[in-house]
Amino acid sequence: MFVDQAIITVSAGDGGDGCVSFCRGKGLPKGGPDGGDGGKGGDVVLAVDDGVNTLIDFRGRPEWSAPAGERGRGKQQYGADADELVIRVPAGTIAIDDERGEVVCDLGQGESAVVARGGRGGFGNEHFKSAVNQAPRKATAGEPGERFRLRLELKLIAEVGLIGLPNAGKSTLLRALTRATPKVGDYPFTTLSPQLGIAELDPARRMVLADIPGLIEGASQGAGLGHDFLRHVERTSVLVHLLDASPADGSDPIAAYRTVRAELAGYGEELAHKPEIVVLNKVDLLDEGAVEAALAEVRGRIPPGKELMAISGATGIGMRALLERLWRLLHEDEG
Ligand code: GDP
Ligand code: MG
Repeated sequence: MFVDQAIITVSAGDGGDGCVSFCRGKGLPKGGPDGGDGGKGGDVVLAVDDGVNTLIDFRGRPEWSAPAGERGRGKQQYGADADELVIRVPAGTIAIDDERGEVVCDLGQGESAVVARGGRGGFGNEHFKSAVNQAPRKATAGEPGERFRLRLELKLIAEVGLIGLPNAGKSTLLRALTRATPKVGDYPFTTLSPQLGIAELDPARRMVLADIPGLIEGASQGAGLGHDFLRHVERTSVLVHLLDASPADGSDPIAAYRTVRAELAGYGEELAHKPEIVVLNKVDLLDEGAVEAALAEVRGRIPPGKELMAISGATGIGMRALLERLWRLLHEDEG
């Protein structure tokens, strides 16, 4: 299981203190108590936001504090309640109280939860007025807001799968495209564990990519890929099929393409019908004019209508264009 993790401290706002005051004015030398109550401190709320899909941002921002309630004032003025502090998290985020190890909330699409409550405001002296005490000098302090250390965890699901024969350049590309490598839990298939990474076009546009090794002849007949592993492949929305433009052994890139396609088909219909971008990789090894010729040849031999791009994971050629294209494919239905 792949988890993105972050530890944050959330502090709700303290309640505002109550006020001691007596109304004094012209002709009112000994007025009654008029100190108002303090306002409530702000709650801290975790809320799911569709625009957020990783926990990366929390790594640079571990402290989250809601404002305090306003103090009460004279002339019976109550302090205002503070606004809540809303922390935006991806759907599927689980918050765990880090000291007690208890799950605080497990947020699905559109959900939110208060994770730290603001303190109540204190009472002003007006509150303590009674028949026997017409001039109380007593007010109470606002309650402190709750404060917790939370561990946020998000199970990452890869949106883009990188496939291709060994040596096509999958690992190199994943390293070049991504800036964060999520923690990988104990994986039962150690020799064939997928690697995940988070690619970022800009902070609002991130994608989770998986390098899916081991798609080799015979693998679908049970030569190693476990059920969990396959589930990862199945949940991706787009496949990037890497072809080595210039294999050291002189083998045919289209033969490599067909081998991997046959393997995918062996896993089932759903996988074989995922949108796929065919990517001619390592074009830094080709002469300038040879790239167009190689693309034309590949285009003529892969199924009509397949998207085709040229990149070099090693030098960065075409990578920005590939990410932009992937983003559009993943978010096409959002208008
Ligand atoms: P994987 O088996 O698909 O994960 O492939 P790797 O990323 O391990 O790459 C296999 C070999 O190809 C390594 O020696 C890489 O250094 C090399 N390689 C990967 N990408 C490129 C590239 O864009 N250009 C060149 N010239 N070599 C590359
Ligand atoms: Mg590799």
